[in-house]
Amino acid sequence: MRLQPFRKFQRFTILCGLLVIGASLYWGRVAMLPTVAVPPVISETTYNPWIRVALTNSPVRSVELRCHGAVTISSANSSDVLQRADKISVSKVSSTPNGIQIGNLHVPATRIEIAVDREPGIRVNNHLYRGKIHLYRMRDGRLRVVNVVRLEDYLASVVDSEMPREFGQEARKAQCIAARTYALYQQQQRNSHPYFDLYDSTRSQMYLGVEYPGPQGQRWAGESKSSRRIVNETRGIVCIYNDTIFCTYFSAACGGKTIQGTDLFADAASPVSPVMCEWCGDAKLHRWERRVTTERFLKLFDSQKLILSENALAVNDMATSALEANPKDTILIQQDDTTIELQRHNIQQRLGAHVLPSPLFQVILQGTDVVFRGRGHGHGAGFCQWGARGQDKQGHDAQKILQIYYPGSQLVEMAKQ
Ligand SMILES: [Zn+2]
Repeated sequence: MRLQPFRKFQRFTILCGLLVIGASLYWGRVAMLPTVAVPPVISETTYNPWIRVALTNSPVRSVELRCHGAVTISSANSSDVLQRADKISVSKVSSTPNGIQIGNLHVPATRIEIAVDREPGIRVNNHLYRGKIHLYRMRDGRLRVVNVVRLEDYLASVVDSEMPREFGQEARKAQCIAARTYALYQQQQRNSHPYFDLYDSTRSQMYLGVEYPGPQGQRWAGESKSSRRIVNETRGIVCIYNDTIFCTYFSAACGGKTIQGTDLFADAASPVSPVMCEWCGDAKLHRWERRVTTERFLKLFDSQKLILSENALAVNDMATSALEANPKDTILIQQDDTTIELQRHNIQQRLGAHVLPSPLFQVILQGTDVVFRGRGHGHGAGFCQWGARGQDKQGHDAQKILQIYYPGSQLVEMAKQ
């Protein structure tokens, strides 16, 4: 998708310009956007306001569904109406050899759409969603459950799901713009998953819906007036580089320096490159230390001996050494007669994010333990959420925050259709 700013608007009168600026100020939009004076449009495609979100990381055997008010069940392929119901009480949904079973209702189709007359009115596993639900029966009988929702509605939940209100208005605006860009970028990569664009988890970005169940079964809000206002104030605004949207990777805390995006992600664009970040020091995982026994570590990799290569050795100055840690740094292990190189992110994947919060760590051997000293939370590429909080406190606006974490990028407003 290429975006081209309008460049022929010079003939608009000063009055017209003032009206645009006045309207922008009224809506509290991100300050100093080129869109205030020269609104860009999409030249080759249109702003697609629908997004498809997978509600589980992998297909499931069954799911719990509940619909408030009148329900229409259609074919997801043709939109032909298959069934209507006054409502659907709490029902287990599973597949049958020739269709999908919803409580007592059998729908003789393997790809269906569920819609209600009044939104939000569909609960899946006790999360309340706007939009529609698509159910796809996979070949192995499991179900892929997808929420088809307007992008801006989706973002109202993503903002609250990803970043608490205490992080500040400008940090949350920046989060919203990064999330919108990320979602649209993922939508363009349709070849990877035919039925959906994004996951509802940290595999893509967190999306809890309008309401979700708390630990004691209470209902918690997944979006708020604040998040809806932020979505409206940044409506249609995205990050671009070379007139094209790019994958706006972000993580919880970089620990002082973001990483080279291409070290972890093949599709990382030029703006996802290392920048110093002095603002995420309040994050709990700005610095961390974890240890596992050498025996457990070696067992995990089916190896006999751990050899620390030079770049794995920690130095005494933790602040310096942690900043130098790189996800592609290696350590060596001995397996039978061969020596294998392990990259940091592979070690993190194998031990799990609950053990190693990021792939940015140094390794030392201490007695019978392998000690990991690291920085940050998440992959460390691009926008740093805790850093955005720190920048907000210093008075940076959303545009400045994003341009620091995605150097060379621009903000533009996409045309709304
Ligand atoms: Zn940071």
